Amino acid sequence: MRLRTPVCKICRRKGVKLFLKGEKCKTSCPLDKEKKKSFFSSRKSRFRKRVSEYWFQLQEKEKVRNFYGLSERQLRGCFRLAEKKSGIVGEEFLLLLEKRLDNVVYGLRITPSRRMVRQIINHGGIFVNNHRVDRPSYQVKVNDTIALRTKSKLYVRLKEAVKKEKKEERLTWLEFDPDTLSAKVTRLPARADVTIPVTEQLIVDFYSK
Ligand code: SF4
Repeated sequence: MRLRTPVCKICRRKGVKLFLKGEKCKTSCPLDKEKKKSFFSSRKSRFRKRVSEYWFQLQEKEKVRNFYGLSERQLRGCFRLAEKKSGIVGEEFLLLLEKRLDNVVYGLRITPSRRMVRQIINHGGIFVNNHRVDRPSYQVKVNDTIALRTKSKLYVRLKEAVKKEKKEERLTWLEFDPDTLSAKVTRLPARADVTIPVTEQLIVDFYSK
């Protein structure tokens, strides 16, 4: 999905770092500078306008949509799937998003952005259990092995980059092997593994109307 709004504007509107520029977000994020604003200026902006319950629900939904880089249709589809599960709908919804192949590959922290991950998957560059999977929405399972296509220039480039980089924070439910750029799913994610600060019940209320 192509984002038409400048990405930092999206974070600013939501008031939360969504890491939409990948690695760059760690070093030069305008939100970090804005945090240093005085108490009075932040209080002023908080009370600038009165907002409805619907607005809050919409903001939470959009926050999640932007964070995972999905279209409205994809997000709604994911929510409908979550409704069919036996657990708590909000939680199931977030876990379905976490288990998407594109999120898992991005979670290996070998590529600079989610957009790049989606491109690699769409071009057949990712193998799950030695089978090519070109669907970013593929749901990973326990013991799945995710690997990059080894016969590509990109593989060599990423491998070099991983060697040089400092230790990155990867998804805790994956076992990453830097020598082969592959990972094994050791367990399925839990609600505590979802890093984006979100009140999922507001999204449930949004989609339940
Ligand atoms: Fe921009 Fe990244 Fe900071 Fe968001 S987290 S405001 S995309 S630099």
